[in-house]
Formats: sequence, structure tokens, C-alpha cells
Amino acid sequence: MSYVIALDAGTTSVRAFVFDDKKGKFVHSVQQEVTQSFPNPGWVEQDANEIYYKAVYCLNDCVRFAGAERVAGVGITNQRETVVVWNARTGEPICPAIVWQCRRTSAFCASLDRETKDLIRSRTGLIPDAYFSASKIKWILDHVPEARTLLKEGNLRAGTVDSYLIYKLTEGKSFVTDYTNASRTMLFDIRRLAWDDGLLNRFGVPREILPEARPSDSLMGEAVIGGKRIPIAGVLGDQQAALFGQGCLNAGDGKITYGTGLFLLFNTGGNCVASEKGVLTTVGYTVGGRTAYALEGRAFNAGSAVQWLRDEVGLISSSAESERIAGSVPDNGGVYFVPAFTGLGAPYWNPDARGLLTGITRGTTRAHIVRAVLESIAYGARDLSESMEADSGICLREIKCDGGASANDFLMQFQADVLGVSINRPAERESTALGAALMCAVSRGLVGIGEVPRLRRSEKIFTCTEERKKFDELYAAYRLAVKRALTV
Ligand code: ADP
Repeated sequence: MSYVIALDAGTTSVRAFVFDDKKGKFVHSVQQEVTQSFPNPGWVEQDANEIYYKAVYCLNDCVRFAGAERVAGVGITNQRETVVVWNARTGEPICPAIVWQCRRTSAFCASLDRETKDLIRSRTGLIPDAYFSASKIKWILDHVPEARTLLKEGNLRAGTVDSYLIYKLTEGKSFVTDYTNASRTMLFDIRRLAWDDGLLNRFGVPREILPEARPSDSLMGEAVIGGKRIPIAGVLGDQQAALFGQGCLNAGDGKITYGTGLFLLFNTGGNCVASEKGVLTTVGYTVGGRTAYALEGRAFNAGSAVQWLRDEVGLISSSAESERIAGSVPDNGGVYFVPAFTGLGAPYWNPDARGLLTGITRGTTRAHIVRAVLESIAYGARDLSESMEADSGICLREIKCDGGASANDFLMQFQADVLGVSINRPAERESTALGAALMCAVSRGLVGIGEVPRLRRSEKIFTCTEERKKFDELYAAYRLAVKRALTV
């Protein structure tokens, strides 16, 4: 056996990859787009059946490519927090899946009493919010009449996308999820690694409708693909899969995904750190019986600011062009940009903040503005990393990067300088799928956990310069601009 398949059920597409563990790389991939619907303002839904059928299509394609007898297992990674509720007898969803972005339960979450909010923080490591699964499950229980009938019969099932896919792929034999996905439901005690009865009561979610939560490297069941039985092993939420796939296996290792927004995950080892600064605590992964925790922070806008330069302001004609233009001036000329298009997240948590461009003089050029926008992305990552270092007392050792904007060499070099650590860009940009593939390979005994960082190959390493003071001063000036943005 020399292959594992990674299934990546994302928000906009379902993809599957064939990983060759001898070559240490993907040798085949396939993709299917998934539809999202927006039936009311702020609502986001998907059809779980569509996700499942597209997953089956992708898996069949990969098994045909590899040959079923040569596939050691399927690993799964998925969009997190999204909720599917289904009928156990038929496997059919009873309503559309409520997607993580959906805001329909935000008023309910805001109305939670202080005691519940404190319980959520201390047990789950999350900030009470409609983003997570709990209030979405409650909404379905309250609004879909079939839910009550099925609950009485004992045939109601609820879970995240991984658990639905596993249920369907195993023909209803396995009703399971992994700890990383469970840790995003707002119902899971991340220290005891078990569903929390207090929170289940408060959200009115009966324990029996939820899957059994298992370590990420568990054997989850046998998928029936094209008539063949293939073990499902290695399940992780997408951000955690990227952390694992980037080989961030030691406390102090971090990864930043530079997409539309920016995600920083910071491995804190066996330390389940409670954040004082408003970042989230989450399960990083569990492998070989050991759980690594992570701090997770998100800046709402990163690549979106580059898109804004291109599409709304018209200062650049492509995202990639920002690299050359920013590098054409020796410094930012005193110009700072705060990308608070939709408020500011951790550590500021101010939904009313608005974007700002400061320090403009008669000599300011397009290049200064483009540069200020790229620099702001790096400062946003430092906002998060400083919070995490303060919370955990652990120093950031190195950052692995991925996502669309990580292709930008100017941004990566500036990031290394602003953080004072090296930024390591991988040869394989699909870190999420790689994480699922490697977790599956570890679980199936194809590779040892110690080999994981070696299987992730570097493409380029950006090292920081010695001029720490200069970059600290730039960051301090950015913080002053943020202060102003908070009062706009
Ligand atoms: P998502 O998964 O959030 O859709 P991607 O990882 O596909 O995001 O990255 C797309 C984002 O990265 C876009 O916002 C785009 O503007 C930005 N981007 C892509 N290439 C570059 C580049 N070379 N320099 C700066 N930003 C870039």
C-alpha cells in the first residue's frame, strides 16, 4: 500500500487528493464546487446531500486513479462549525446545513446570560458567538418540526460536516467526530475532551443526538467507495489540519494562512491556555494519545485589502502586482493603513472601527499606499502573535505560511521582520489536505509522527533582519493609527 486519500470538504468546494507517502507528495487531485445559498439577510446555507455526493464523486475518482487495493485509508478535513441534522434511518438531512458564516442566531447568542457566557469561555475556550455550532443546532431543534418527531423516535442525529460524511460513507455504521471538530461546537469541554452536560442543557441539545468524539488519529470506520471498503482514519477541522500539515508539532510553532482574512494558529503543546486577550483556545490535534492545544486568532481582512486596492481603488491591476509596487519604494513614507473594513477582531474586538489611511503628504505615491496595505497585513498578524505570547508565556519560534497572499515575497519578508521570526513557505501549498493525508498516514502506520515535519518540504525561508528596533517602531506607529481607527 502506498497511497492515502485526503478529502477536503471546504466551504466553496469539495476536493480530494491522492498522497504518495514514498514520494511525500500529492500525485492526483480532483475538485467539485459546492453551492451556497443566502435565503435571508445574514443567512448562509448549504445542501449536505450535495456535499456528500460531490465527496463521493471525488473519492471515486481518486480510488480509480490509485487502485483500491493500494489505498491505506482516507483522511478527512472540513469546514468547521457548520451543522448538519439528519434522519438516522434514511441518512437524509432534515433541513439545509447551517454554514459557519450564518448569523441567524446572533441575537440569541448576544442574549445569553453572563453565567452561560462564562461557562462557554471556561469549558470550550471559545467566545460565545453564532459562528459556532451550538446555537445552530438549537435553531434547527426549535424550528424544524421533523426534528422533534425524530428525537422522540431516537432517530435524530446532529453533527459537523465530518460526522455527516463519515456517517454516510460508512452506510450509517459510524456516528463519530474528532476532538478538533467537536472543539468548535461550543458544547465540548476541551480539557476533559468530552461533551459538556452543563452546556448541552443550556442549549437544549440532547447528548444522544451528537456523535462520539474521538482522537484525530482514530480509526473512524470503513468507507464504502465504489464497492470497496477503505478505512477512514485521520480527521481534523481545516485550520487544525493546516497546523498539522505544516508540521507545527512543538509549542511555539505557528502557522498563518493569508487568505481573504488571516488565521494564526499557535501550538501551545499540552498547555490548554486560557486567553485574556480574546483569542480562542482550541484542540490542535490528538495523536498517539497526546493532545496538543492551540491558540487561534483571526484578522477579518488581509487579502481582501489587496482585492480592495485592485477592485475598488484601482491602484493595482492584479493582487500579485502589489509585490513589485510595494518594493519600488524604500519605505512606507510614513503612510499607515488600518484594514478595519468590518471592524477589528482580536485583541481590539471593536465592530464599529472603520478603515483608515494616515500620514499622507504631498509626496505620497501609489507605491506608498500599496506598501502600507501590505504592511498592515503583517501588523495584524503581530497583533495576534503578541496576544498569544502574552497569554501563553511561550515565544513564537517560527511561522509556516500558506494561503493565496503567502505567494507575495515582499509581504513574507516584511512579516518575518515585523515578527522577528523566520517565515517558512512550503513547497506544497495545500497544507490543509496535506494535514489530513499525514494524519491518515500516521494513523495507518505508514509514517511515524516524527517524520511529519520532514514530509512537509520548504520552498523558501524568509529570515528576519537584525534591525528589530526599526520594525518595533513601525509597529508602534501602526498601533497609533489603530487607536484612531477605533474612534472613527
Ligand atoms: P480564500 O481561501 O480566503 O478565498 P485564498 O487563499 O485563495 O483565499 O487567497 C486569496 C486572497 O489572496 C485574495 O484576497 C487575494 O487578493 C490575495 N492574494 C493572492 N495572491 C496575492 C499576492 N501575490 N499578493 C497579495 N495578495 C494576494
